Amino acid sequence: MKTIPLFAMTSRDDASVTIPWGAVLSTIILTAGMLTVVQIVVDRPMLLVDRFFPGMGWIEILVLSLYAGFVTPKILNPKTSVRWRTILWLTFSVIFFSQLTLGIFGFTTFLMTGVLHYPVPALIVAGPIYRGEDFFMPILFGSTLFFIGPAWCSYFCYLGGWDFLASQQVKRPRKLSKWRRPKQIAILVLVVGGALYLRFSGIPISIVSRLVALFGLGGFFIIIFLSRRYGSMIHCISYCPIGLVANIFGKISPFRMKIDSSCTSCGQCSMVCRYDALRPENIKQKKPGLSCTLCGDCINTCSNNYIHYSFPGLSPQAARTLFIVIVVSFHAVSIGVARI
Ligand code: SF4
Ligand code: SF4
Repeated sequence: MKTIPLFAMTSRDDASVTIPWGAVLSTIILTAGMLTVVQIVVDRPMLLVDRFFPGMGWIEILVLSLYAGFVTPKILNPKTSVRWRTILWLTFSVIFFSQLTLGIFGFTTFLMTGVLHYPVPALIVAGPIYRGEDFFMPILFGSTLFFIGPAWCSYFCYLGGWDFLASQQVKRPRKLSKWRRPKQIAILVLVVGGALYLRFSGIPISIVSRLVALFGLGGFFIIIFLSRRYGSMIHCISYCPIGLVANIFGKISPFRMKIDSSCTSCGQCSMVCRYDALRPENIKQKKPGLSCTLCGDCINTCSNNYIHYSFPGLSPQAARTLFIVIVVSFHAVSIGVARI
């Protein structure tokens, strides 16, 4: 088995838990490095502390880097990874929506540009098409696709975490209709086509705004009523167009979830997949479906480790460690800079 020496560095903090110091250090350095670039290169103060106490953003960089190092072993440990992935995801969402709420009440320092936008993920694609400018979000989203594939939808999205929580109200996901994917494709075409039409039709912004609000409300309705009922993330896998875009274009990243040929098709892993990516046909073909977001919740369900992360040239363990180092660093950076 091939290992990266840095990731193989370990020591024990008690009799049963091994701290992956190599991964912890890598996450701290990567987080600090990315935030330092933001701090030096971007003119506008991006870090919140800098906005209130100019020049003090470096303290926030230190805190966020240490935080990233602290959570890395929690996510790396397969026994605690699902719980901690949920905590991280919802923590980001709560911070995101708290800043948005403060912005709505007039505290514009908590907003990215001082201007409010709807917190609807579909706008990542539809917004720039409608406006013909402001490509910050598509670039940010695209860079996550490049580094960690579709994991935007299982670690970062401020809405996806709530869909995940809703889906967990049912112990096991129920079988879904085969029309799930065609519906999502139709919604993507509608959103892109609709944004183009609205751009050139001269329809007043007040109407456009209402349409966006309606689309967002539809999403909340689906999370509350359908995801809770079916035990799957119905909003993300059949309504949100960004989920489909992430699944398709996330293939540019070399990270994959693989099922070994020795898999016995027992179906144990499919009991935890809320993304409908481990249907019997997927397991039979030894390949998770397109809707897999690399969340990693399934890896601890197979007692033989037949389902695992893969990255060219790395062992499954090293691939997972590398993936988590990048994901956790991006998460910590997002806490520092991501806001509407
Ligand atoms: S599918 Fe849409 S709402 Fe769900 S996690 Fe992805 S971007 Fe967010
Ligand atoms: S196949 Fe595994 S990694 Fe992929 S979405 Fe399902 S549970 Fe997550």
